[in-house]
Amino acid sequence: MVKGIKAECRPFFYFPEHLIPNIIYIWYNMRMEGKKTVAILGAGFAGVRPALACSDILPENVRIIMVDKRDVHTLAPDFHTFSRITGHQDLPNAYAVPLKNIFPSGRVELWQNAVSSIHPDTRLIIMAEGKQLHYDYCIYALGSVPGFQLINGTEKAVFTFTSGEDVRMMKDYLLTLCKGKYPKAPIRIIIGGGGFTGCEAAAGISQLIAHIRNNDKKDIPRIQIILIEASHELLGSARPWVRNAAFLRLKKLGIECRFNTRIQSVNGGKVHISQGDILAYDLLILATGVEGVSLREPISGVNFDNKRKIPANPFLQMIPHKRIFVAGDCAHIYHEERGGLVSGTAHAAILQGHVAARNIMRMIKGKHLVRYHPPAPMHIIPLGGYYALFDHRYIQIEGIIGWALKRMNSLQYLNSILPFPKALFLWRTGAYGTAKAAPQVLQ
Ligand SMILES: Cc1cc2nc3c(=O)[nH]c(=O)nc-3n(C[C@H](O)[C@H](O)[C@H](O)COP(=O)(O)OP(=O)(O)OC[C@H]3O[C@@H](n4cnc5c(N)ncnc54)[C@H](O)[C@@H]3O)c2cc1C
Repeated sequence: MVKGIKAECRPFFYFPEHLIPNIIYIWYNMRMEGKKTVAILGAGFAGVRPALACSDILPENVRIIMVDKRDVHTLAPDFHTFSRITGHQDLPNAYAVPLKNIFPSGRVELWQNAVSSIHPDTRLIIMAEGKQLHYDYCIYALGSVPGFQLINGTEKAVFTFTSGEDVRMMKDYLLTLCKGKYPKAPIRIIIGGGGFTGCEAAAGISQLIAHIRNNDKKDIPRIQIILIEASHELLGSARPWVRNAAFLRLKKLGIECRFNTRIQSVNGGKVHISQGDILAYDLLILATGVEGVSLREPISGVNFDNKRKIPANPFLQMIPHKRIFVAGDCAHIYHEERGGLVSGTAHAAILQGHVAARNIMRMIKGKHLVRYHPPAPMHIIPLGGYYALFDHRYIQIEGIIGWALKRMNSLQYLNSILPFPKALFLWRTGAYGTAKAAPQVLQ
């Protein structure tokens, strides 16, 4: 009898235990259904503004994770103000915006990790410490690194002008040279590369030396600044009037430009150049170009170009991985109308990041993707003092107005990522202030 009752009740109470793990799995999948993860790798120009855009346009059930090895966003286009800023020990702070100030709400999760490898087949990103991130869509915006193989061994007094820390060390070293050790010996500063970075660095150094001479009234030694350029002119990708004006400006600042000269190697405080000459230097800045960041493992199926940049299609999808979008300095994007590669600028990086963010939203909604149309190039090149060259479409400006436009451009960008008072404070600090003050207000 009892047995019979049990048998009747069995359908109500019996539950096959071996199915439990499967059911948990199905329940987990149902919960995560529609919960996509967008991973943004790199908190540079191509990563930060798109992450803000993603947090605005993507629905709440989409996780947005930003990964960067650093916890700050670096403002490389403002490095040219280094000669004016006091408190140079903390100089990098003037160019660094803490990421938590840009993303205070927590909508964008911040992971401070170095990306080690990406596995598109399993949609996994592996960090240097072994941590894993599973993504549905990804923006790959890891930027670039100085791309030179010129240095044999560990060379002293060589800088690249590509990070706030490097700019600080360079300034420190220069001040020591000028003020300290060998007050009477002539100093030779060599800048390798007459592109945007090389020209800005040369002009900034000349400005700093003039500042020391005028303000400290020190009897500093004779200083020779030589800019070495492999081609026959400066700023190869700019329009002719910009190249010409930049050359005249550097000449006026006392900088000697040597064209058709290539740095072959650097060894023992000497630069070996293409004509077979050897030039001794006291300070060397190598601004001879950049290449895409290398991960520990190559991304399967991707054909990197000779500068380690990643080819992208017109929708900015990584070829051949359609769920990964590429933006910024690490992207190899061909400009069909102008028939050349899109050059790596902050301006281009921001726009590419935006297109990538929009396309992710459209992919999630099942819509057609939008193409990336590179805008007409805009160059603002600060060349010491209150002087900059501005070139955009039909507008050609030179001098203090160019400099004012550069500063306005910088403020406008800061205001697009920070509340106005913070943007204004950092903007002022980055131009004239004490670097030390920046993080106190921004934290
Ligand atoms: C001195 C100088 C002056 C410049 N002036 C101008 C200018 O006036 N106008 C202009 O438009 N452009 C200018 N540029 C160029 C501009 O700064 C770059 O084009 C722009 O920064 C590119 O943005 P990005 O996001 O691609 O890369 P980045 O800004 O370099 O950002 C890449 C990010 O990825 C992170 N990262 C790298 N590797 C890893 C990893 N393995 N794991 C995790 N994170 C990683 C880095 O920490 C960084 O935050 C200048 C550059 C320099 C150096």
